[in-house]
Amino acid sequence: MIRKVLLDGDPILRQVARPVTLDELSSPAIQGVIDDLVSTFKSMPAAGLAAPQIGESLCIVVIDRPITVLVNPVITPVGTDTDSSYEGCLSVPGKRGEVLRPQTVRVQAMTREGKMFDQVWTKFRAIVVQHEVDHLMGVLYTDRATMLFDDSSVHAPAPREPRGTGVQVRETGERKTFVIESPKPVGGSQHVTFVFHSNGRVTSLRVQPGGARITSVSLSNVRLKRRDYPAGAATQVICGDRGLHVAAGDQLRIELMMPKGKRKIVAEADFDG
Ligand code: ZN
Repeated sequence: MIRKVLLDGDPILRQVARPVTLDELSSPAIQGVIDDLVSTFKSMPAAGLAAPQIGESLCIVVIDRPITVLVNPVITPVGTDTDSSYEGCLSVPGKRGEVLRPQTVRVQAMTREGKMFDQVWTKFRAIVVQHEVDHLMGVLYTDRATMLFDDSSVHAPAPREPRGTGVQVRETGERKTFVIESPKPVGGSQHVTFVFHSNGRVTSLRVQPGGARITSVSLSNVRLKRRDYPAGAATQVICGDRGLHVAAGDQLRIELMMPKGKRKIVAEADFDG
């Protein structure tokens, strides 16, 4: 699930993040946060992203090329070479700044599988990892910048939400509900309700068919477990502990069985916001 990136001024960005224990690392909750961090990162024009930026005050970062997840990273400068480069941050939109940092660092961390990670990085990756580890200490690059200027190319795209015919959004507390109604009702009305929680995960899906029998409800290539959706009655599909991960480009589709045995797709919504 792609999450919203917090902006400078949000207190979470100024907290010292909590380390993740080896025991909890394999839990669905932490693995879910890592999945969300990676999906959010992949959807953004950034070289790295830290968990506090998606609202999770945990010591987890993701760094690009190749995509590397680091849990509880510790960085130590190697040698004394320093240099200045221009940094930007999705949490500080519209700005860029010059920051002086060590050019080579040793990076020690855990992988998301709990394995030891120990590498020496130089130049671009060394700069990026220092910027991300700063986030875990509540530090933004603007605190270190020797010069700051405007750059409109630094910004996060709007979060993904379903779009399609008849998509309605209702917000109640930490829940966000999307109702997707069939654009062409067949023998009544069909609609699907998604329940999004504040962490952005889909936790349940309610299908309310009309006269025809629903043969399938799918989210892109994910065929939801339950096969039979009885006619005329609401049925609920619970999406499991970790919920469904909705990514950009995903499409929700409801297919109905028509009286003469024909199948018809009656509702579609995509997440390519
Ligand atoms: Zn940043």
